[in-house]
Amino acid sequence: MRAENPLKLNPARSGSMTAIKPGSTIGILGGGQLGRMTAMAAARLGYKTHIFSPEPDAPAKDVSSAFTQASYEDKKALESFAKSVDVVTLEFENVPADAVEFLSKKIPTRPGAKVLEITQDRIAEKDFCNSLKIPTAPYMAIEKEADLKIAAEKIGLPAILKTRRFGYDGKGQVRLNKKTDLVDAWTGIGNQPAIWEGMVDFRLEISVIAARSPSGEIVCYPAVENRHKNQILDETIVPAPIYPHQAKKAAAIARKIAQQMKLQGMIAIEMFVVNKDMILVNEMAPRPHNSGHWTIDAAATSQFEQLVRAICDLPLGSPAALGPARMKNLLGEDCRKYMDILSDPTAKLHLYGKGDIKPGRKMGHVTRLLKK
Ligand code: AMP
Repeated sequence: MRAENPLKLNPARSGSMTAIKPGSTIGILGGGQLGRMTAMAAARLGYKTHIFSPEPDAPAKDVSSAFTQASYEDKKALESFAKSVDVVTLEFENVPADAVEFLSKKIPTRPGAKVLEITQDRIAEKDFCNSLKIPTAPYMAIEKEADLKIAAEKIGLPAILKTRRFGYDGKGQVRLNKKTDLVDAWTGIGNQPAIWEGMVDFRLEISVIAARSPSGEIVCYPAVENRHKNQILDETIVPAPIYPHQAKKAAAIARKIAQQMKLQGMIAIEMFVVNKDMILVNEMAPRPHNSGHWTIDAAATSQFEQLVRAICDLPLGSPAALGPARMKNLLGEDCRKYMDILSDPTAKLHLYGKGDIKPGRKMGHVTRLLKK
């Protein structure tokens, strides 16, 4: 049963006529920390959330009013999930596009299957960017062993071989140089469809998060710098130390992608700053992003509230930073330092309530708003 909406807003003041109003229930596919923080932001605006996750111990479960543990292939479970919510979003982009397609026939599902088809496949993602004249690293699809030799000649070495699908935090990728046995490298990533990417000699890595509502309003957060350790995000620097014209260019890229995809929801675009004039898109994720966690404590509107606003077709909030800030991930055992962090008056601590501490696992983060 869909919840009756008790809030009767004046339609002239409630943004879009198609707005999904406070009191409604937001369904979230995926139950990790991104779902957890989205559910918390939704609650603040008076929405309920229902988490759908294959994992029994989903961090988002503790902060949501309903939870379904089921596989994304379970049509019966998806069917009853659809009946219990007013809109569906996702916090994990590798939800099978089939499940999203199935849900979208029953209930607004934002983002939709088309956006997922592009962002789940590194080749489709780069083809899409290039079709918009947005540059990327040089690349070639690898389908069979013989393609490796062709790519070595065409694109050259050094390079990175990445699985086309399901890669994250550097998983499913291997670096190639003149000494690498190419067949071994391909076996190393499971002999699956892959992308050969020329190695980019970049100055820094940045990201821009954009939100777009079904009414077509778009906002972009300021570009931030992302520093990685062992290919996992370690620290985000706000704003990115780049020239104003570069920040403008990065925002224009994100806006164009959101617009051309007809995105409904949020997208994070990771980019390489190569030099004063060149910015390349590396990859995108159609959901809130680790590099946007700073927005909870250091932006006018958090990325999680922005997602709620976007999928509910409400007016979008200001993405402005309140000042320079830094976000540091707490990976594995780092989360045990909570006493020290809490003793620092400038630190805002977030823990995700995960039971098992494993090396490299994202357990929480800390944001510090710095003096201007
Ligand atoms: P990805 O999973 O594509 O985000 O890659 C993980 C990390 O590997 C990135 O954050 C970069 O630091 C590095 N990387 C990925 N692709 C390239 C590339 N084509 N050239 C240089 N470094 C790359």
